[in-house]
Amino acid sequence: MAARPAPYLDDLNPAQRAAVEALDGPVLMLAGAGTGKTKALTARIAHLLNTGRARPNEILSVTFTNKAAREMKNRVGQLLGQPAEGMPWLGTFHAICVKLLRRHAELAGLKSNFTILDTDDQIRLMKQLIVAENIDEKRWPARQLAGIIDGWKNRAWTPEKVPAAEAAAFNNRGTELYAAYQERLKTLNAVDFGDLLLHMVTIFREHEDVLAQYQRWFRYILVDEYQDTNVAQYLWLRLLAGAHKNICCVGDDDQSIYGWRGAEVGNILRFEKDFPGAKVVRLEQNYRSTPHILAAAGGVIRGNEDRLGKELWTEAEEGERVRLIGHWDGEEEARWIGDEIEAMQSGSRGMNPMSLDDMAILVRASHQMRAFEDRFLTIGLPYRVIGGPRFYERMEIRDAMAYFRLAVSPDDDLAFERIVNTPRRGLGDKAVQTIQRMARAHAIPLVDAAGKCVEQAEIKGKGGKSLAQLVTNIFRWHSQVRDEADTHVELAEMILEESGYTEMWQNDKTPEAPGRLENLKELVKALEEFDNLQGFLEHVALIMDNESDEAEEKVTIMTLHAAKGLEYPAVFLPGWEDGLFPSQRSMDESGLKGLEEERRLAYVGITRAEELCTISFAANRRVYGQWQSQMPSRFIDELPEENVDVLTPPGLYGGGYGAAGSFGSGSSLEEKAARADAYNSPGWRRMQQNTARSMHSPNESRNLTIDSTAVSAFTQGDRVFHQKFGYGYVMGIEGDKLDIEFEHAGSKKVVAKFIVPADR
Ligand code: ATP
Ligand code: MG
Repeated sequence: MAARPAPYLDDLNPAQRAAVEALDGPVLMLAGAGTGKTKALTARIAHLLNTGRARPNEILSVTFTNKAAREMKNRVGQLLGQPAEGMPWLGTFHAICVKLLRRHAELAGLKSNFTILDTDDQIRLMKQLIVAENIDEKRWPARQLAGIIDGWKNRAWTPEKVPAAEAAAFNNRGTELYAAYQERLKTLNAVDFGDLLLHMVTIFREHEDVLAQYQRWFRYILVDEYQDTNVAQYLWLRLLAGAHKNICCVGDDDQSIYGWRGAEVGNILRFEKDFPGAKVVRLEQNYRSTPHILAAAGGVIRGNEDRLGKELWTEAEEGERVRLIGHWDGEEEARWIGDEIEAMQSGSRGMNPMSLDDMAILVRASHQMRAFEDRFLTIGLPYRVIGGPRFYERMEIRDAMAYFRLAVSPDDDLAFERIVNTPRRGLGDKAVQTIQRMARAHAIPLVDAAGKCVEQAEIKGKGGKSLAQLVTNIFRWHSQVRDEADTHVELAEMILEESGYTEMWQNDKTPEAPGRLENLKELVKALEEFDNLQGFLEHVALIMDNESDEAEEKVTIMTLHAAKGLEYPAVFLPGWEDGLFPSQRSMDESGLKGLEEERRLAYVGITRAEELCTISFAANRRVYGQWQSQMPSRFIDELPEENVDVLTPPGLYGGGYGAAGSFGSGSSLEEKAARADAYNSPGWRRMQQNTARSMHSPNESRNLTIDSTAVSAFTQGDRVFHQKFGYGYVMGIEGDKLDIEFEHAGSKKVVAKFIVPADR
């Protein structure tokens, strides 16, 4: 057969080409970020099809996200220049396993129309089992059990296979409850997420004929992001590829960032053992990023002991250094990034105008998104959030908002329905229906109906008692809103405490729980920027209404975890502060291992950038109304100096700290005092040192160091802050002194170096 043209081979380098053309037998492509692993994998699919080696449905290609699967489908289509007849099996492990399990459900004791439980259902079920077993649910919460069982499933352990060493789990009852849970799922004709892989591995192990069928069927297997597979996924792959061994895995040990979810980077190292004679391809040329960006990423990842070690090089032009900038606080950081993005979009930074689609903000924790979302909404900058709902759409935020809505107006029935049994108050569907019936019969709001139900003993017992408590609470919160006895921020915190909502997440042992608690803190922080609860609720209602047009250009906001495999011309990496990134939790829970995983995450972050990478940190963050001083991330010290430009914070060149918000006019005296304290914080001092150690002159307008907090930094009319005298305006300048009219302390002459710019 005459060879068909293969244009997709032309733009590969020799190493990539070798990996693509080695169609038979095991191949491991082990290479750093941006070296074209995914590109080669895609070309390999095209090559398999184009050479007639495989029909589309004989190819199984596993990606890490559905988004990646879609992109790969498009790319294969483009590479072949024609729509392929049929498409390869392309998707995540879970998506592919659902399809397979539906065909063989009976082998797992299920019907093919089984349902897939979400985490909530999963927890509810476990809770029932725990209660049925007379175990104290307070001491042994269902969520903890869920975490344990998920972990076992990730290792492909069925209840019988859980090793004796783990038997002490969950008060020695773990395996027993695990078995009961699996039985219960079967009765319900349901599976949870972990079951999808577990059942398929079990079926393949126990039914040789089924396994053989799929070994014949999936003649070529390809796996992207191999470093993040867990044991169950690894076993599934090994079983499927066991006969023909036509398996090509690509990965990067430096980008293994899902250890906390059971991923085992060791799978990479085992590959050559499991598949002897594997062709191992190493790629070292990076096609994505500039040399400065690569060197910065390399400098950070070198701090890890536990790595295979590889260096990257590029032919790209030197480009701009990685930019580093410290800010006063998180709001200031969000404001600066917003301004910067607008400047880049309009081309006023002296660069060509850039599309918003080419810019991304990558955060360590999802609660960091809130400040950016609020800021971008304020200035009308379109954005999208990838890999999760936008901040105000998150479950815990909606729950908390429902409580706030009830405090403002107790007859908000939708809000009442949402939280009546969250946290659980022992009110089943029946109780809720009783309340609804009562409300309809008397044409009254649900909250009143609930009160009546308790009075008339329609709802009794434990459920009745806690319902009565909820109703009383709602009316008390309402009167507190009306009387304005406490600040709305204090009230919000109180509501979350008294309702038991915060506690519910504190007792929650699933991996998502700490993130949800942080989101709740962030919500309270957002409240501080408003005068009262009502105003805040209106703000959020408007945000939710702001579903903008998908076709429009948008800045992307997402977590570092979700950014794996992606690339953007300009990347912002905010919040590089110890405790936030590296995250305190990962270090507390997993020590050095945790720190190394955080460092890999930093490496993933920097290597997403093609041309411009901007790292930032804040000297202060507000947590529950308290100023907390922050230290710049230890990863910042690991950035090689020669690849970094340190930018001067905007407050230091006379512009002041910008628009309303951070020094908001509504702020209390205590807050002003707290801010003043923060200026003496070690975080702020360290940041000044960092800035002062400015090694290069990034560009003329920014070439101002700390020393210039001299008179020249101020002009008449600037709003300023003095630690002792508070806020005021510059009325005139005399020598090295400023003539300032303070809001409370009157007119004074003050040496410029004791003055910092404030907002207007
Ligand atoms: P990551 O580890 O981040 O997933 P990767 O190794 O999968 O990275 P790709 O995303 O495949 O890298 O490629 C990075 C960029 O380099 C892409 O824009 C890709 O088109 C480009 N690229 C890859 N190989 C080549 C090549 N041989 N010639 C030109 N460009 C290439
Ligand atoms: Mg990739």
